[in-house]
Amino acid sequence: MTGLQIVQIPVLSDNYVYLVHEPRDRLTGVVDPSLAEPVLETLDRQGWKLDYIINTHHHWDHTGGNVALKAETGAFIVGPQAEAQRIPLIDRALKEGERFRFGQAEAQILDIPGHTSGHIAYWFEPDDVLFCGDTLFSLGCGRLFEGTPAQMWNSLSKIRRLPDSTRVYCGHEYTEANGRFALTVEPENADLISMMARIRATRARGQPTVPSRLGDEKAANPFLRADKRELQAAIGMAGSDPVAVFARVRSQKDNFRG
Ligand SMILES: [Zn+2]
Repeated sequence: MTGLQIVQIPVLSDNYVYLVHEPRDRLTGVVDPSLAEPVLETLDRQGWKLDYIINTHHHWDHTGGNVALKAETGAFIVGPQAEAQRIPLIDRALKEGERFRFGQAEAQILDIPGHTSGHIAYWFEPDDVLFCGDTLFSLGCGRLFEGTPAQMWNSLSKIRRLPDSTRVYCGHEYTEANGRFALTVEPENADLISMMARIRATRARGQPTVPSRLGDEKAANPFLRADKRELQAAIGMAGSDPVAVFARVRSQKDNFRG
């Protein structure tokens, strides 16, 4: 544990931007800034100065604040190597196997393509923190804009190998709608049913459902369960290739109106 402090900033209709602060060296980063203004206001309120901009993928609602924040603060920008051309003002491109040193803390980089072709995650292992952008959501996963079902299943399987205690900081508050869909896939999943009850109560109080705990996602998120007997049986695909099962569930979600 390095005592990382995380401040969640809701922006646009459902995006989350995160300030990450390492208190010993007094370093601050911002993960996926859609916009500059709310980030600057929050930095001000915390009394923190911005050192790093940390991007998971190139979409504008994750990088839209890069240029203005760098102009204002001189922050150093890190992002995915495979999308370096599409990350505004990137200073250092990162890929799997590399580490991003952040004061006393350190993130391992995971390549998790599928939503976009070069999407990466930042895993701060000792702090049990994962920033995974739009790849894994609570009870859902990102749409496949630039990747195949096989790539996305592989990326999600990589995330699934992390410890249950990992806190999943994803890019959007989509949890309740994702859960409504998940219940159509596995209506009998007791873990999903109880997680959804907690989520509905949290949303009714106007509070965020993010971060979620990876252990809960493993038990309830259909996109992490394409190789599970119970899920396969629930959709009439017992014994099928997990990639085919994942593709089926993903395309059902793409067409879900609920
Ligand atoms: Zn995205």
